[in-house]
Amino acid sequence: MSEGLRCWVEISREQLAANYHAIKRTVGAGVEVMPVVKADAYRHGAAEVSRVLTEAGAHWLAVSSVDEGMALRVAGIDARVLVMGGVLPWERPLLREYELTPAVHDLTEIPRLGPIAYHLKIDSGMGRMGTRSGAGQILDAVRGTHEARLEGLMSHFASSADFTSPQTELQMEAFHRIREELVHAGVHPRYVHLASTNPVVLARREAWQNMVRPGIALYGYWTPGKGEAPKPSLDVRPVLGWKASIVLVKEVARGSPLGYGAMYWAQRDMRIAVVGIGYADGLPHRLSNKGRMVAGGRLTPILGAVSMDLTTIDVTHAPELKAGDPVTVIGTEGEVTQDARHLARATGTITYSVLCGISARVKQVYI
Ligand SMILES: *Cc1c(COP(=O)(O)O)cnc(C)c1O
Repeated sequence: MSEGLRCWVEISREQLAANYHAIKRTVGAGVEVMPVVKADAYRHGAAEVSRVLTEAGAHWLAVSSVDEGMALRVAGIDARVLVMGGVLPWERPLLREYELTPAVHDLTEIPRLGPIAYHLKIDSGMGRMGTRSGAGQILDAVRGTHEARLEGLMSHFASSADFTSPQTELQMEAFHRIREELVHAGVHPRYVHLASTNPVVLARREAWQNMVRPGIALYGYWTPGKGEAPKPSLDVRPVLGWKASIVLVKEVARGSPLGYGAMYWAQRDMRIAVVGIGYADGLPHRLSNKGRMVAGGRLTPILGAVSMDLTTIDVTHAPELKAGDPVTVIGTEGEVTQDARHLARATGTITYSVLCGISARVKQVYI
């Protein structure tokens, strides 16, 4: 499988489907699960991930942009596709052409859409996308258009893993106030959705309504709750492993400087491996002299700078390793595991950013 590759990710279709089913079980039968496959499915490969998830039963998928939605259609995906991140003025005709469903963030957009269904996003307090208009204005806009049809009402939370902050409750209140006014006026959107991964994993049931939008949980991760958070209610596991091949192994003498800037000096005579992965593959430069890889069944340090295409590790413990052998950046070898969360912690960033940072040069292999 790995033969002939320098740097690649292995994506488990089976684990992906298992994570989807775990989410389905948690939210129950009355709640539609709309997998989020934006940003190339967090670099798991949007087309193949979408294929697996639609075969597993997903009727809806969510992306950020019209481009991403078009790419799914070109790949032959025929599920409903919600474009969450805004539609640019010149992209409007493409919505109909590619049968994409926009999230609308500004009431003035509605009459410009033409005869399609849309989901209206309420900015309930996150302060990013979504409309800040009140229920009266929303009712006028929804009723003032005969072509476009309100199919969903949605919002998004800023701090849903943080149980020390009242922000999520405040956002929910603001959202439900608007929703109730719409319902009183006889407007009943078919789908109501607010929850990404964290409100699902951390059991904020009120936020589930009849649809949820998990992203990172499908790929096996979530954000640990802050404060008095409930125990995570979901068994999901990482879907993606990240590997690279050793390009060169050699012995260096104690006192030798290694790599750019001589950031590391050999503390003893040692055996090093130069691995075919660098920051151009998305390995964070901040792992220089700090991160680790799994080689020869053990976590072993990165020595010196992560450079563009190459990174050096200590393999003194594993004399059997040679050029062409794989090492693991994300994944498990025997008893040892390193996942995207560890890399994020080591670099002061978030798991999402580590996964999305895996560059287009890295081959995606499905297993
Ligand atoms: C990215 C995104 C999601 C999914 O978030 P996760 O934390 O990955 O589950 C859901 N909704 C919106 C609006 C998003 O932008």
